Amino acid sequence: MIQAVFVVGGRGTRLGLTDRPKPMVDFCGKPLLERMVEELASQGVTQFLFLTQYMSEYVKNWFGDGSRHHARIDYVEEASPLGTAGSVLHAKDHVQEECIVIYGDVFFQMDVKRFVETSRGNGGCGTLFVHPNDHPHDSDLVHIDQDNRIDRFYPKPHEPGLLVRNKVNAAIYYLKKEILQYIETRDGVQDFGHDVFPAAVQRGARLYAYNSSEYVKDIGTKDRLARTIFHWKQNIPALKSYKNAQRAVFLDRDGVINEEIDGVYHPDDLVLLPGVGEAVAKLNASTFLAICITNQPGVAKGFVSFDELDTVHARMDMLLAQSRAYLDDLYFCPHHPEAGWEGEVAEFKIPCACRKPGNELFLRAAKNHHIDLKRSFMVGDRLSDLEAGKSVGCFTILIRNEHNKDIFAKDVIDAEISSLHEAVAFILQQENEQVYV
Ligand SMILES: [Zn+2]
Repeated sequence: MIQAVFVVGGRGTRLGLTDRPKPMVDFCGKPLLERMVEELASQGVTQFLFLTQYMSEYVKNWFGDGSRHHARIDYVEEASPLGTAGSVLHAKDHVQEECIVIYGDVFFQMDVKRFVETSRGNGGCGTLFVHPNDHPHDSDLVHIDQDNRIDRFYPKPHEPGLLVRNKVNAAIYYLKKEILQYIETRDGVQDFGHDVFPAAVQRGARLYAYNSSEYVKDIGTKDRLARTIFHWKQNIPALKSYKNAQRAVFLDRDGVINEEIDGVYHPDDLVLLPGVGEAVAKLNASTFLAICITNQPGVAKGFVSFDELDTVHARMDMLLAQSRAYLDDLYFCPHHPEAGWEGEVAEFKIPCACRKPGNELFLRAAKNHHIDLKRSFMVGDRLSDLEAGKSVGCFTILIRNEHNKDIFAKDVIDAEISSLHEAVAFILQQENEQVYV
């Protein structure tokens, strides 16, 4: 399978721990680290490397050589803290050609094989597990391009008004050994997220993002630990693992999330409709994914560039975050089929399968997030939204408003409702879905 490298040297001061390192904090009768080893071992990981520093003996005494977990566990101990990247460099003789690196204070349940295989396929020297969260303003954000390649890092704290999509570094990395060349051979702390990755990208290294809404949380404070245990007792992390098929609520953008105007081409022009933040937050607190699928022909028409559209979507992410809400993903079609206009971008003026009512973006989302489309929902305000959703087997909901009074198509409209807020309430009730925050 692959080697798993755990950085386990942290102190648990904020957890009130004095007798053991942070990753050994009790998680319902077992150390957190043991639960994470079990999670990986159950998926075929048999090689572990523990990078220890603070109270190394405690960890060694607990795990031994790994035979209790049908695995081999090696240890490399540091004399003084080196940070995550410094630790990995220090252990270079024990690090295999490829590995996953995990911070010891992270609780996760994820489809490891899926993560590793996707990472192997992109040709980069590393892939970062990234996800949206409900507090991007104080999280380490990454910026990714159209091909999921990371081109910029925004470690916290952020400048006020920063416009960047809600993609947070979750501290789980797939790394090839070649990443070591970007770590400086010196004493002192070097962190992957803050020091090594940003410098590597500047030097042309290819790092990619694996965008997933599987359950990954750091448990560094008592509150976070308690909430994670609460979720775990309700089986939420397992349900959200992409080993299991997910259900999504697909959302159209203009007229469903934000006010419909004649083209939103500047971040200041994006205004959320009333109640949308609360509605999306409710979806986030269920096991449904919230995924936006939108036609943006303004790109083909030359009215808005990819970068400008990206800042519009960053603005949308930041406005949603004010309600602690987020989109699990967003897909847009930049095309438009009718050529022959001044200023248009010829390469996007083509008929395509992704412009709704085409359903290619739904299929792409289903592949990326292991979604069962037939147990999913599409919420839109145009016939093309509902036709697209219907064609892949979704339950379709029309947001009835003043712009679509004339739409009547019983064969593609399963329900009609007047706002996203009510649509979400309807879905959660129909599915008997609990909200688990
Ligand atoms: Zn398209």
